[in-house]
Amino acid sequence: MNDSLWNQVLERFSEFGSEPGVLERDGILDLLQGAVLEGEKSHYSLRVGSTFIQRLVQNRYHHDLLTAFREVTHNPEVFLEVLVQPASPAGRKKRIRPKSSPEGEVFPGKSRSLPLGTDSPPVWNHNLNPRYMFDNYVVGVCNQFAHAAACAIANNPSKAYNPFYVFGSVGLGKTHLVSAIGNCMIQLYPALKVLYITTESFLNEMVSAIKFNKMNEFRERYRKIDVLIMDDVQFLSGKERTQEELFYTFNSLYENGKQIILSSDCMPNDIPTLEGRLKSRFGWGLIADIQIPDFETKVEILKGKMAQEKIDLPMDVVYFLANSIKSNIRELEGAMIRLGAYGNLMGKQITIEVARTLLADLMPLSREAISVDRILQEVAEYYRVLPKEIRSKKRHKTLVTARHMAVFLIRELTQKSYPEIGREMGGRDHSTAIYSFKMVEEKLESDPALSADLVYLKKRLEQAN
Ligand code: ADP
Ligand code: MG
Repeated sequence: MNDSLWNQVLERFSEFGSEPGVLERDGILDLLQGAVLEGEKSHYSLRVGSTFIQRLVQNRYHHDLLTAFREVTHNPEVFLEVLVQPASPAGRKKRIRPKSSPEGEVFPGKSRSLPLGTDSPPVWNHNLNPRYMFDNYVVGVCNQFAHAAACAIANNPSKAYNPFYVFGSVGLGKTHLVSAIGNCMIQLYPALKVLYITTESFLNEMVSAIKFNKMNEFRERYRKIDVLIMDDVQFLSGKERTQEELFYTFNSLYENGKQIILSSDCMPNDIPTLEGRLKSRFGWGLIADIQIPDFETKVEILKGKMAQEKIDLPMDVVYFLANSIKSNIRELEGAMIRLGAYGNLMGKQITIEVARTLLADLMPLSREAISVDRILQEVAEYYRVLPKEIRSKKRHKTLVTARHMAVFLIRELTQKSYPEIGREMGGRDHSTAIYSFKMVEEKLESDPALSADLVYLKKRLEQAN
């Protein structure tokens, strides 16, 4: 019976998120297919196959899974914990109590989710990833300003800078930094109600609250917070209702002297279709950016992660990695972990040669180097139009085709997110970028001419790099 419940939850969960593809990219849906759901009424346990999956769920998807779960069970108070051990056949029907399992807690010290109803125990779930601390955050020229401001805020919530808005490209440590502020605060001021939430989760939760007719509780909950950490606010783009709700939450928190911390991939002014009143509010306090790290900082970060993950790579390989992966620390880490795993499994010392071969499949180094401008130039030339026309709002047929193609290529050949692509394409919404991508993807199957165009353009772009 729980199997079908779990399938419904997964189905609902897979519909969340304004960036289709993110779930697929993490493979989380596949990983969760095999999970076993146990429990009844208001307390369920999900058994996953490994600590890796458990961590992935806890760190990134717990909030959304819970929201999906609450919708499907029509029970806004239901609680879902994530456990690691494979279930014994007898255990399948047993209800698992958190106390009986040391691994059972979803977040250290707090085993409950945010109380939606009035009779839930008043334990605060800050939703922070405990791995993101100041201690393991490497400071370099690229982030020293943001880091200094973050420390000041952690020490003096609501007194130093409010709001604090940090921005930078994907994988440069925004989530780590804003989470470190929260983790530091709850150590220094345990009574503070700190809440970390991604903008997408805020949106999903709001939609769910609307559906359950629980908007009052939703608002109430957000107004009780002492410190609101909201990650990736660029996703507010095109979400009018969420913007409106956040506006009221922002005002209420701000007026009551509560700390607000925001992260984004760009300046407030560059978030397309963000309401003026939010744009200006986001800039009321302090705005700090995180830049691409230099070589030394990357090496320090790698050393730290190697110690943390107990991976031992020779220093020349570390330098090779820091040199090859230019602008995304998450990829840098991913590469290190894969090399470490390979070394362990094969019982081999990793050399630069091995690293080069392994990484060539993982991430063609040219991917980073192809710029949006180059793509637009090639596409424009091919379709005999101008790059600025592709970016414009004009809609004649060739231009529309060129535009879709450009979006598709940018998505395939660069690291840009949909919101970034939307912006690069003349300030369009990220949903437009998603639409373009899907259009090409769909047509490719039935339109050999389009496939040929794509192959030709890709070749040209990759050759020149
Ligand atoms: P973003 O939110 O900007 O996309 P994240 O905060 O998720 O990036 O960072 C990606 C990965 O890189 C995380 O594992 C994070 O711990 C690591 N990282 C980023 N910057 C640093 C840093 N300065 N020191 C240590 N680790 C870092
Ligand atoms: Mg992030």
